[in-house]
Amino acid sequence: MHQHATLTDRLDALLPQTQCTRCGYPACRPYAEAMAGGLADINRCPPGGAAGIERLAQSLGRPPLPLDPACGHEKAVQTLAVIIEADCIGCTKCIQACPVDAIVGAMNLMHTVISGHCNGCELCVPACPVDCIEMVEAPGIPPPFTHAEAFRSRYRARNHRLAQIERENEMRRRRHRVRPDPVAAALARAQDRLDEHGNATDRGSA
Ligand code: SF4
Ligand code: SF4
Ligand code: SF4
Repeated sequence: MHQHATLTDRLDALLPQTQCTRCGYPACRPYAEAMAGGLADINRCPPGGAAGIERLAQSLGRPPLPLDPACGHEKAVQTLAVIIEADCIGCTKCIQACPVDAIVGAMNLMHTVISGHCNGCELCVPACPVDCIEMVEAPGIPPPFTHAEAFRSRYRARNHRLAQIERENEMRRRRHRVRPDPVAAALARAQDRLDEHGNATDRGSA
């Protein structure tokens, strides 16, 4: 860790980076910020489990605590999402929910989980309107903290991609707002011609 790393950086580096939101924060880093600011306790991360709480406790020089059951439980065996492809209606809602872009598919087409990228966060499960995503046990998969750096990197890449799309959409909206309405422009030109004609007639009859 860089010598100028903040306390938030140091605590964030100890979190498993599934971005599952079970701690009650929208992602791992906001939880790290809350702990660094003394606003959250160290026992709110089920994917980190007892080992994660121990890491946080050591870092902060505090005694560990039992995991807060209000946040969920620590999995004995890791799980991965699997889509029952025959039932998938291709709505893309799971792709929108997945924080690490572990699902591929396109509108109206079958979707699939890339198991090597899935961190077991379960955010896709309630997002599916036809209930065709299941979490299955994957006994050979190590705890999420082992792959925290990869999950963080995919989460950042996803945020970057979404921000880029939003910037492009905003530019499109702006272009649309400033583009003159062709019908209104034609009416204005016609009115100008009528006005000119009326003025010429007035001058001729004066
Ligand atoms: S992995 Fe832990 S710290 Fe990160 S969002 Fe989930 S519960 Fe919060
Ligand atoms: S596929 Fe589902 S369980 Fe896996 S990382 Fe994405 S949202 Fe989480
Ligand atoms: S949310 Fe469910 S139905 Fe929609 S694309 Fe994903 S798996 Fe298919």
